[in-house]
Amino acid sequence: MVSIPAALAANERLRDQILLIDADDTLWENNIYFERAIASFISYLDHRVHTREEVREHLNTCERLTIAEHGYGLQSFRRSLVTCFEQLTDSPVTAEKHARIVAFTESIAAQEIELLPGVAETLEALRQNHRLFLVTKGDPEEQMDKLHHSGLFQFFSGTEVLAEKHEEAYHELVRRHGFASERTWMIGNSPRSDINPAMAAGLNAAFIPHDFTWVLEHESVDRPKGSRRLLELANFAELMNHF
Ligand SMILES: [Mg+2]
Repeated sequence: MVSIPAALAANERLRDQILLIDADDTLWENNIYFERAIASFISYLDHRVHTREEVREHLNTCERLTIAEHGYGLQSFRRSLVTCFEQLTDSPVTAEKHARIVAFTESIAAQEIELLPGVAETLEALRQNHRLFLVTKGDPEEQMDKLHHSGLFQFFSGTEVLAEKHEEAYHELVRRHGFASERTWMIGNSPRSDINPAMAAGLNAAFIPHDFTWVLEHESVDRPKGSRRLLELANFAELMNHF
């Protein structure tokens, strides 16, 4: 789907770049915990008419609406589960049912941070020659909490928790920090939030797909603009071949 430009394929290692790095499902596991919680929720709902796929589809709809109103994060996710439950069962959620649903969300919050393979070593190597910024979206407190627990805080010159990662958000980020866009890369697993909007804003990008990327982040990958570059890598450690 994506070809590596010849100049980069010839073992050219770039120096002095600005690397904006996504967090969830790029540095550490995240979506698998949500998938497990959703599977438990669907089993608990045990709908007599709708299939598991139909319940999931409805939950996705609830999530889109909740996120538009309340943003990303665990509180939003819990709200979506409750709404989905109410709408599909056509009955109010009792205190007991509410407690069960909250427990599905809490199982996610209780997870230890599980770094993806090679992440710490790669960040250690990259920061020798580049400036690294963590650029994530979601609830600021939850995301900063994960960063502190990850042990990766030391590698970054700065962190940004954005409400949404769209083209304008990248323009604003570049303006605010005075980044030179030809030397700036967005690195992440989500075409919708990391790769396409960053390239639309005139940045380079490195796409590192994750097998379990959240369905709301799915999108096909666009082409980079003008002389900008797009890399597609099999894993995080492959960044060391290019930077
Ligand atoms: Mg991500």
